[in-house]
Amino acid sequence: MIKKFLKRVFRRSAKVKTVGRAQVIPFALHGVAREQISYGAKRVTDGLQAAGYQAYVVGGAVRDLLLNKIPKDFDVATDATPEEVKRVFRRSRIIGRRFRLVHVMFGEELVEVATFRCMIETEDAQTDEHGRLLRDNEFGDQEQDAARRDFTANALFYDPATQEIYDYHRGYQDTRDGVLRIIGDPLVRYREDPVRMLRAVRLSAKLGIHLDAATAAPIAQMKSLLDNVPEARMLDEVLKMLLSGHSVECIQKLRKMELHHGLLPLLDVIMDQPMGEKFIMLALKNTDERLSQDKSVSPAFLFAALLWHEVLSVWNQLVKQGERPVGAMHIAMDEVLARQKKKLAIPHRHDAVMKEIWLLQQRFEQRSGQRPYRLLEQPRFRAGFDFLLLRCASNEVDNELGLWWDEFQDASEARRQEMLQPEGVGAGAKKRRRKPRKKPAAEGASTGQGTDDRAAE
Ligand code: ATP
Ligand code: MG
Repeated sequence: MIKKFLKRVFRRSAKVKTVGRAQVIPFALHGVAREQISYGAKRVTDGLQAAGYQAYVVGGAVRDLLLNKIPKDFDVATDATPEEVKRVFRRSRIIGRRFRLVHVMFGEELVEVATFRCMIETEDAQTDEHGRLLRDNEFGDQEQDAARRDFTANALFYDPATQEIYDYHRGYQDTRDGVLRIIGDPLVRYREDPVRMLRAVRLSAKLGIHLDAATAAPIAQMKSLLDNVPEARMLDEVLKMLLSGHSVECIQKLRKMELHHGLLPLLDVIMDQPMGEKFIMLALKNTDERLSQDKSVSPAFLFAALLWHEVLSVWNQLVKQGERPVGAMHIAMDEVLARQKKKLAIPHRHDAVMKEIWLLQQRFEQRSGQRPYRLLEQPRFRAGFDFLLLRCASNEVDNELGLWWDEFQDASEARRQEMLQPEGVGAGAKKRRRKPRKKPAAEGASTGQGTDDRAAE
C-alpha cells in the first residue's frame, strides 16, 4: 500500500527532461529497470561507455519491455565505429558488407552492435525509380539514427546505466497508448522501403497494438510497390510473419488490408485455396501455439503445410490419369517444388524434410504387418504424425486414423497386435490401387490409397 502510494507520488514528481531535441524519460515514469536488460547487452553498453562512447539498447527490445513482453534479442546502438567496437571486445567480429555491424559474444548470447546511421538527405539519396532507398549506410548521430528507423515505438534508446529513455519522436507516449505510428511522412517512408508496410502489419499483430490511421491509410494505394522488393527479402519478412507466434492475426490483417494478393506466391497459395485454407490456418494456429509454449517450429514443416494442397491436387490429377499412387506422389512433389522455386526462393535445404513429411502421409494408411513398426522408427515420424493430425483436424482424412496412430505409438506389444489390421485392409488394398478414387483432392481425398511400402521408402 505504502509502496504503491510512494510510487505514485514519485511518478507524479518525475519529470521528462529535454536534451537537445530528445525527451528523456526517467525510470520513475517508464519503469524499465536495468535488471531487465540481458547480461550481454549490459556488458556491451557498460564496456562502450567505459571506453568513452555512447551506447544504448535500441529498437524492438525497448519497445517490448515497455509493453511488458519478453524481447527476442537486445540490440545496441553506439557512436563508436565497428572497428572501435571491435577493439573494446575481444570476442567480437565485424559482419555485413553493405552496412557493417559488430557481433559481440557472451557465451550463448550474441549482441548485435550498430553504429548510429543517418538517412541520406533526399537530394543525394540513392533511390530507384520508385523511390526505394538503395543506400542508407552513412554513419550519423543518435538523433539521425532515430529518424531513419521505421516506427516511433522502434526509435527509443535505453541507457542501462542511468535507466533513462531517449525519445525523439514521441515513441514513448505512442507505446503507452498502444499505437504503432510511422516516423515522418508515410508515403515517403513506404516508398523508401515498401517492406515497412509488412512490418506495420506484423508488428501491430504481434504486439497487439493499433496501427495509427495515417500510418495505415496509404498502404492500400502503395501495396504494388512490394513488387519491386527483392524476393529474398520478401521471403525473410513473410517467414518472420509466419514464425512470429501471431501468424493467424498477421494473415487476417493482411487480408483485411488486401495486402495478400500478388504479395508473394507462397502467400497467395495460403490465401486462395478454399479447401486448403482450413488446413493451413490450423497449421499456423498450431505453429503459434508451439511458439507460445517455447517449442521449436521448423520452417520445413510450415512450408510442407503451405504447399500440401497443391501437392494433393497435382497428385489427384496424375492418379486420375492412371499413375500409381506412390509414383504420382513423387512427380507431384517435384512439380510443386519446382513451380514454387521459380517464383519464390524456398531454400533448397528444406526440400528433403518436406518430401519426407509428405511421403509419410501415404504410409500412415498402412496398418498391417510390419509396416506400422517400420514407420515408427522413421526419424521424421513425429513431424509426419503432427502433419497427419492437422489433416484429420481439417477433415481431409478420418479422425480415426489419427487416433489409431496416437494409440499405437504408446501401446503395449499385445495391444499393438490387436490393433493391426489384417493384410489387404486399408493399406494393401490392391483393388483400390488399380482403381483410384474419382474424388478430386480439393474435396478431401486422401493420399494413402494402396501405397506400396517399399516404393515409399
Ligand atoms: P522483432 O521483435 O521482430 O525483432 P524489431 O523491431 O526488433 O522486431 P528488427 O528487424 O529486429 O525488428 O529491427 C530492429 C530495429 O531496426 C527496429 O526496431 C527498427 O528500429 C529498425 N528497422 C528494422 N527494419 C527497418 C526498416 N525497414 N526501416 C527502418 N527501420 C527499420
Ligand atoms: Mg529485433
